[in-house]
This record gives sequence, C-alpha cells and structure tokens, in this order.
Amino acid sequence: MYKRTILVTGLVLAFTGTAAAFDFDWQKALKVGGETLQKVQAANKTVDEAQEIELGQGIAANLLGTSPLLDNNRVQLYVNDVGRWLSLHTERPNLPWQFGVLESTDLNAFATPGGTIFVTKGLLMNLSNESELAGVLAHEMVHVLSKHHLAALQKSARMDLAGDLANEALKDRAGPILDKAVKAGTEVYARGLDKSDEFEADRKGIIIATRAGYDPYGLPAVLQMLDAANAQDSSLALMFKTHPAPRARLNLLDKIMADNFDNYRAPVQTDKRFLAALAQVK
Ligand SMILES: [Zn+2]
Repeated sequence: MYKRTILVTGLVLAFTGTAAAFDFDWQKALKVGGETLQKVQAANKTVDEAQEIELGQGIAANLLGTSPLLDNNRVQLYVNDVGRWLSLHTERPNLPWQFGVLESTDLNAFATPGGTIFVTKGLLMNLSNESELAGVLAHEMVHVLSKHHLAALQKSARMDLAGDLANEALKDRAGPILDKAVKAGTEVYARGLDKSDEFEADRKGIIIATRAGYDPYGLPAVLQMLDAANAQDSSLALMFKTHPAPRARLNLLDKIMADNFDNYRAPVQTDKRFLAALAQVK
C-alpha cells in the first residue's frame, strides 16, 4: 500500500514537471569539461563533486557532437520524468540528473559522470513498457553513483600524462585541451567499462528500479530482448562490444534475484503514458 502511494505521488510530480530537458550551455560545458580534465591530469588526485559534474557535462557535450538529441521535447521530458523519479531513490538524489534520447538508431545507452544519461531512440523503440525503460536508466545511473566512468577516465588521463612525461619533445602540454578531453572520453566510451562494473550496474540498478515502484524484471526483460536479437546487426555492434553478453548478465541476475523479488512485481499502471510518449518517436 505504501509503495502504491509513493508511486502515485511520483506520477503527479512527473506530469507537472516542466523543466527543459537540457538547460545548460553545451559549448561552455565542453570547454570547462576539457579544462577540468587537464586539471585532473596535472594534479593526479581525487576529483571533487563539482569537477565530476563539469567533466561529465563536457563529455556529454562531446557525445552530443557526434550523436544529436531526438528533436521531440515531449519524449525528452517523459524520459526525464522517469529518470528523475528514479534518481530520488538513489543515494545521490541531488546530482544535476538529466536524461536525453539520442536520435541514433543504434541500440545503446550511456552515462557520463555527474548524472547525464543518454538512451538511443533505437533502444527506446525496442522497449515494451516503462519498467524496461526504468531498468535501462537505473543501470546507467549506477555507473554514475559508483563513479565507474570517472575512475576509468582518471586512469586513462594518468596514462596520458605518463605518456607526455616520457616524451620530452612534446612541448604543447598547455595545448589543445579539448582534443584531450575528446580523446580520453572517446577512448573510455569506445572501450567500455570492466565487466565487473557492468554486473554491479545490473545488480544495483534492479534495486533502484524496484525501490521506485517498478517491476524488478524490467531490466531482465530488456536483456532477454537483446539476447534474442541478431548479434550481427550493426545497430548492436557498439553495445555488444562494450558490455558482457546479455546471456551472462541474465545468468548472474537469475542467481541474485531467485525468488526474492516476486513480491515486488509492481502493480504500476504506466503503460498509457509510455505508449503515448513512444507514439511521438518516428
Ligand atoms: Zn553499463
């Protein structure tokens, strides 16, 4: 009963939210993110939350440079509503969480440090209900909460710095800041995270989605869809390259979930708004 009450509150909040999906200056974010990365390289130390956010917004701007947002405000707001409701059930509800649907027909989702999450139009259109969307977003949110990309970026930045020091002929250390940000960011996103980070995101993502009132089996349903998809399909190439096989992820979740979540199969009625939002996507 309690769960149902908070869920209804969530839906009301969600439908009254009018904030723009993205309301910051991407050019500035890109520049500041690049400068922050350079500071991280120079200082070689822990990054505070403000830097984490700056860096992530710079990387998000880079990602948007290669893959623009879907031009549909209603869909963007809908995905933000779902994501922000989920964020309230995490240990970092005060991060500047924002969610964007990319125009891309690939099936994928990304997280950048500090709370910017992207899901592609291709993936969104292959989902069947809001619990599946929540499962995908919550998985990405764990990457932010556990600072997986931040750690990978720092490692990559340190290696980059070591390379610079080894090469004394390289005099332009103060040089193209943006190039460095692009390079480090692109590398991490093209290579993917450690498998253990991905499994952790599955495991903890399910808990966040369940806490927010969604069917815990949303993410497993998405993994089943991916498992059944043709692995040779080019729209799946990057996701399959950067993630463990869907079957391996399902096997692990099977073990963890067993029948522990059966009492939480949500009575949530969100199908209508999910379908209404998806009908906007072309
Ligand atoms: Zn992941």
